[in-house]
This record gives sequence, C-alpha cells and structure tokens, in this order.
Amino acid sequence: MKFYQSDVFGLIHKYNVPGPRYTSYPTALQLTDSFDKGLIDKDVSERQSVPRSISLYFHIPFCFSLCWYCGCTKIITKDQDRGDVYLDYLEKEMELRKVTLHPETDVHQIHFGGGTPTFLTPEQLRRLGKSIHSYFNIHPDAEFSVEIDPRRVGEDHILALKEIGCNRASLGVQDTNDDVQEAIRRIQPFEQTRFVADLLRKHDIKHINIDLIYGLPKQTLASFKKSIDDVLSLDPDRFAVYSYAHIPSIMPSQKLLNEADLPTSEEKLNLLVFAVDYLTRAGYNYIGMDHFAKESDELSIALKEGTLHRNFQGYSTRAELEMLGLGMSSISQNENLYAQNEKDLNNYYERLDSGKLPVKKVVELSEEDKIRKKVIMQIMCRGAIDYDRFLDETGLVFKEKFSAELERLKEPEADGLLSLMNNGFKITPAGRLFLRNIAMVFDEYLTQKRHKTAYSKTV
Ligand code: SF4
Repeated sequence: MKFYQSDVFGLIHKYNVPGPRYTSYPTALQLTDSFDKGLIDKDVSERQSVPRSISLYFHIPFCFSLCWYCGCTKIITKDQDRGDVYLDYLEKEMELRKVTLHPETDVHQIHFGGGTPTFLTPEQLRRLGKSIHSYFNIHPDAEFSVEIDPRRVGEDHILALKEIGCNRASLGVQDTNDDVQEAIRRIQPFEQTRFVADLLRKHDIKHINIDLIYGLPKQTLASFKKSIDDVLSLDPDRFAVYSYAHIPSIMPSQKLLNEADLPTSEEKLNLLVFAVDYLTRAGYNYIGMDHFAKESDELSIALKEGTLHRNFQGYSTRAELEMLGLGMSSISQNENLYAQNEKDLNNYYERLDSGKLPVKKVVELSEEDKIRKKVIMQIMCRGAIDYDRFLDETGLVFKEKFSAELERLKEPEADGLLSLMNNGFKITPAGRLFLRNIAMVFDEYLTQKRHKTAYSKTV
C-alpha cells in the first residue's frame, strides 16, 4: 500500500503541533524533586522481594567536541582520564543498585548512550563491561547495544565492545554532505562511517542502526537523498530519522547555527515525506515515530505480532522490561515509579560519595496514569486499541471511560488517520505519521500550561 495520500502535506500542517514523544507516560516533565523520600524505600523493598527482568541503561556524558545542533545531556572535554573517574562512580552506583534488586533478577537488555559512549577508551570500555558482568546476572540472549560516534573509533574499540558482549551498534551519521557537516560542526567523512560499519561486521557485531536528522542547516531534498543513498549502501537493519528541533532558548549551543541556513518548515516537511517514502520503497517498514526497520528485523516482527514496546530509549522488542538507568541524568522506569538521577555531574558524584542513590526527581504513577499509559503505549506500539482486551486488562468499559476522548477522535477519523469500530479503533497507514497526535487525546497532563512550550512539534 502506498504510504501517503496526496493531501499528506495538508494533514501535516494541520497536525504539526508541539507534543510529547511518549517514550513514557506520564512524560519526563512530570518528574519532580519534591517527592516523598519514603517512595524510594518502598520501591526498593518491592524490587528486592521478587526477581524481575530488567534493562540497564548507562549514560556516558562526555564528548570530544560540540555538535552545534545537539540537544543531549553532555559534557565537552578532551580529557579521557575523566572517563576513569566516571567509571569509579558508575561502579559505586552499581554496587548500591545491586542490593536494591532481588538476587535472581536477570538483565535482558543493556544500552550505552550519551554523550558519546565511545569517548571511553577500549580499556575503559572493557572495565565497564567487566563491572556490569560482576554486579548483574546477564541473560545469555541479552541485547547489548551501544551508540557509536564513528569519528573517533578504531578497531580496538570495536574489539573491546565485542569482548564485553555488544551485539548491536547505532552509528550517529545525521547527514553525509560536507556543507551540512560544516554548518553543524560535525565533520564526518562518509568513508569513516563505512570503515566503522565494516569493522563492526568483521567482528561479528551484525546488527547496525543508522541515525539521521532532517531539518538541519543547508539540507535540501537532493542533499538528503544523497545522505540516505550513502547510508543505504551500508545495508543497516534499522534507521532512525529524527526531526531537528530548533529550540535555542532551551539549548543555547543551537544559537551558534546560522538560522538563515535552516530549511523552512515547508522544506522540512518535504524532507520528512521524502525520507518516509524513499525508505519504505527501499524495503524498510515504518515502525512509528522516527523508526524504520528491515522486514526481517526484530522490530518489524514485533510490530506485526503486536509485541512492540516503548521505553525511554524508544521502541523495543523486549517484553516490558523494567529499566534501571545508571549514570548522571539517567531515568529508571518501572510500573509504579520513574526516577531520574542527578543531572549535574558534581551532584551525582556527591550523592554517591555519601553512600546514597543519586536520585534527584521522581514521579509516582497513579492508577489513572497506569490506565492512560496502557492506552497511549498501545497506540504508539500497536497502532490499535481493542476494547475487549482493555476490559480484560482493566475491568473498565473503554467507551464509558473515554467517551469524551472518543468524541475528539472523530476529527482525525474524518481526516483518514484512524478507523473507529465497534470493538476498538485502528490507526491507518497514513495515520502512523500522527501517532503522537492520537496519543495526545488520552494525555491528561496536556492542559497544564508548562506543557504547551516544553515539546517539539509532532511531525
Ligand atoms: S550530538 Fe552527540 S556527539 Fe555531538 S555533542 Fe551531542 S551528544 Fe556529543
């Protein structure tokens, strides 16, 4: 089926409003530092009492140089000794976290994100891998993924990653054109990216994801086509094609970009429509939001089988694992509580020096949150709601509970984004571009004033 209808641009204009990405519900905006400290103790005793399946996220905040478009939590430095100090503290945190878990808790997924995980030297990566294996029980089939900056990675890094169990790599590319790279101050010859992809395959790290960004300065349809053609030649399993969110008031480094070089919103929408169409024609399934995967990839299979999940790292194939986030700014996530670590490196170190978990902010999920989370995640991951299933899972009649929301879905239905049926509703292929908009109908927090300015646009 062709992905788009001819009036897609009109729909994008209509629905392109600020909205959450729903890697969680409630979103990270609900995290607060004025929480009842007893909540953490209660949560720990629940985690300790039953073995669970978990996912570990490690935030490595350091980067060698600043990319001007960057919106991540990072620290720019060339001093790799800072990696050793950081690992000292990650080990302190792992020691504290380990005792918060039941001894038979298994790790099914590990992810290194940043910043730049490969800022760490091969020896530092080996040290981190060794520590993880000594503090946690790693399941033999665990997925272990690492974000790689191809600009400063050699064979030693790849060997170290292989040794510690890495089996999936995400290569940050963004754009392969010289003038775009110059405009964003991220100089990355494509041959270097190809070299790293070849090294990964040589050392049997077979699963490769590529990250691109649309909406960057100097990008045109022709130049973005070249970027996609370049990375298609690497035959990746998955693509993430992120929208560049220009919010210099929140991300001051973006003020360095020349705003006159940014594509207009019309041009940006053209880039998006082109990317979705081109990648789907090239054989990649549109998973949702900004993600594409080959037909044979686990994400495509999970989408088809209705087993796709979503967490703070995006889409995941692993059944809803509890997530334990380690390192500064990381977020942990379980069915009752989301908790974020200190975002400031010194505060993160100080908390660990005093022998305390470095948790700074928390949101506890109410029963209402849990019900709405179920609906929002099913929209984001399955693109459908089944009222019987909802009744089985919650004991509630969907049409009664969400009668006002169903009324509000009539407009997107008339626009062809979903089909309302007697026993549920289903997002149409065209509606998959607007998953966030449909999920927003069920978000109770969006009426709060601060939410109106906190999110990037939905498309
Ligand atoms: S885009 Fe990535 S590599 Fe560049 S500054 Fe941000 S986190 Fe670091």
